[in-house]
Order: sequence, then C-alpha cells, then structure tokens
Amino acid sequence: MFDARAIRKQFPILERQVHGVPLVYLDNAATSQKPQAVLDALTDYYTRYNANVHRGIHTLAEEATAAYEAARARIARFIGAAGPEGVLLTRNTTEAINLVAYAWGRRHLREGDEVLLTEMEHHSNLVPWHLLAAEQGVRLRHIGITDEGYLDLSNLDELLTERTRLVSVTHMSNVLGTINPVRLLAERAHQVGAMVLVDGAQSVPHLPVDVADLGCDLLAFSSHKMLGPTGVGVLYGRPEVLETFSPFLGGGEMIQEVYLDHSTYADLPHRFEAGTPNIADAIAFGAAIDFLSGLGMEQVREHEVALTSYALRALSQVDGLTIYGPQDPQHRGGVIAFNLEGVHPHDLGTLLDQMGVAVRAGHHCAQPLMRRLGVPATARASFYLYTTEEEIDVLVTSLEKVKEFFVNAGRRAGRAV
Ligand code: PMP
Repeated sequence: MFDARAIRKQFPILERQVHGVPLVYLDNAATSQKPQAVLDALTDYYTRYNANVHRGIHTLAEEATAAYEAARARIARFIGAAGPEGVLLTRNTTEAINLVAYAWGRRHLREGDEVLLTEMEHHSNLVPWHLLAAEQGVRLRHIGITDEGYLDLSNLDELLTERTRLVSVTHMSNVLGTINPVRLLAERAHQVGAMVLVDGAQSVPHLPVDVADLGCDLLAFSSHKMLGPTGVGVLYGRPEVLETFSPFLGGGEMIQEVYLDHSTYADLPHRFEAGTPNIADAIAFGAAIDFLSGLGMEQVREHEVALTSYALRALSQVDGLTIYGPQDPQHRGGVIAFNLEGVHPHDLGTLLDQMGVAVRAGHHCAQPLMRRLGVPATARASFYLYTTEEEIDVLVTSLEKVKEFFVNAGRRAGRAV
C-alpha cells in the first residue's frame, strides 16, 4: 500500500522546522525534495569513482561511464523510449526546448512556417519561439483556454494547417494543473505533417508517461522536479527526428573527427552532449528514477488524485478563496493556484511561510496565462508523493489565520480590503 507517511521518512529535509514549526513543503511544482538514496548516489560518486566519462581507460573512468550510461538507460525505460540513443541529457527542460529551437528550428523553419503553442505555456516554451520568430519570420499561433481552464480546441482546424511545422504544448500546466490531451493533439498534428514537442516538466514527475502512448516526437523534462538533483534535464527524441537536427553546441565529446577546418559528428545521443556532462547529477537522477519506479507511477498518480480532491474540497470551504483550473481531479495534477480576496499573493506567501507552509507566489513564469486569468499573480500549492492530508489541513487552517489577521483585522480597522 502507498504510504506517504512512511515514504517521507526517506527525505531528511522533511524533518526540518522553519520559524519554529514543522515544514509543510507545498512548492513541489518549483522543485521537489530529494530522498536519501539520491543524496547517497551523489556522495558515492564523488567518494568512490569520480572521473571523466567516455575518455579514460582506467577503472574509475570506466565505472563513471558505465554509471552515467546506465542512468540514461533507466531514463529511457522510464518513459518507454525504444532505446537510450533518443535520450539527450541537457541542463533542464528549458535547455531541452531551446535545443529544439536552435538545432531544428534554425535549420528547418522559414518565413511563413507556423509553430502552434498554447496560452498556458511556461515561459520556457514561449521565449525560445519568440527568439526564432524574430530571427526567421516564423509565425506563432496559440490554442486558447476555456473559462474552466482546459485547452479550447473548438478552432483547432483553423489553427492547425499544412503551414504548421511544430506543435509544442505542455502536458500539464504548472499553474492550472490541467492535463492536456496530448495524444489527440499529436494525432491531429501528424495529420498535417507537423512535429510534436511535449513539455513534460510537470507531467513526467507525477504521471505514468510513455512516449509511444503519447505519440509525441520530442519530450522535455527536468530531474529536479522528480526527486533528482538540479542541473540535469532530458530531451527525448525519436531517433529519426533527432537525426534531422543540426548539432547544437560544438566541442569535445560530440565529434567523430576534427580537422583544422571542419569536423564530423558523433552518433546519437553524444552528438548533442558537447563537453564534460553533469556526471554526478545524471547518476543521481538515475537513483531518483529507481525510487519512482520502485513506488510505481500509477500509485504516485493515484495518491495525488486523492490528495487533490481532498485539497479542492477543503479549500473550497475557505471563504474568499478563488481557485483556478479544472475542478475534476482526474483531469488535473496536484498543483492548485489560488487567490485570497483582499490579500496580495506575495503577502499570502510570506504569512504562510511564517506558519511553516512553503507555497509559491507570483506569475509562475506564465505571464500570458496570468493575463488570460485577469490577475497579476497567484499563490500556488503543489503536492508530491510525500504530501499528506494533514499538511493540506495545515494549509487550510493557516489560510483561515491569514484571513483573520489580514482581512478581518483590516475590516475592524475600517479599512477597505
Ligand atoms: N515547463 C513547465 C511546465 C514548468 O513547470 C517548468 C518549471 N517551472 C519548466 C518548463 C522549466 O523547467 P526548468 O526550470 O527545470 O528548465
């Protein structure tokens, strides 16, 4: 049985107190905490077999190379990729998306070509395309959002045409929690010959994700949101698709032969990994994947659906609280953005922190979405496999206290709030 309370014991940081009270960590959409197994994998690498990969013939170099490549193979299995050659290790999701814009977009896109995005994208799936549009005259189009927080697919036929070369869409919104119908979008995109890139930064950590089931060509995600270290991300690509990319960064490791005036390039995946990679963090990411696989992603998702329904019910009892995004927990992840009437989200975040509750407040790197919602910012609570119902209770009682301190005190003082 999935037991979040037992799982928590494997995360040393969750024992922490802040401001003299136990930490309630509800900022998992920003980054997750790390289990002891991941911390141990880092220490083990640096204390026993720290060496550069793919170069040395000595024992330590061979061990480091084997561990680094084993992490890549684990990642491939975790997302149902046919083999490790389609798994490119990057710094994060942002770099993975930029890699597509630079290595594919600059080579293949021309004036008049279109890239289809959505109004709920994170800036990391908007700005790389802005740069490309400014340079190459590519037209950007956007799928809108319904008032319930779903993608509005009513005009998809008009948005998706033979001019569309790429559909790049988030699998799960980092603000609304919405889980998008990526498979359907991929089918429709492929019918017009467009390529499909999925931003899996929020979905891969929380849902079972299989690239063959999704039908996508490319998938980007980050280790640090799924129990692994910062500094490692993934661009998965179907090898036939990656073969059409130009090299990204040039230098050591990504070449086959170098002459004074030209080079030939290594096979996949190394062609896209110039220089010494982030060896330690990639190996520890492999340990994170083992941890998640050990629990089972179906179980992780089930736990989060239960938590999200519990949280939506409890939060809807708080007077003056506006919750954004779909109401149905089956169609959303454990990310809940909200605003409390009369309290700026930054003040709300600061007051909650005083009570030990860590949430995020701001635009969540989704300014176009904030405009669509008609707010400058929101607070956001986000859950993970170690989150408990008791922690959601603490969030709710803390919100009630904030209301008491802030809103009701303001009313008593005769201030308009
Ligand atoms: N896309 C989404 C949906 C995200 O939530 C995030 C992280 N907030 C990113 C992309 C960017 O991830 P990273 O900062 O790890 O590159």
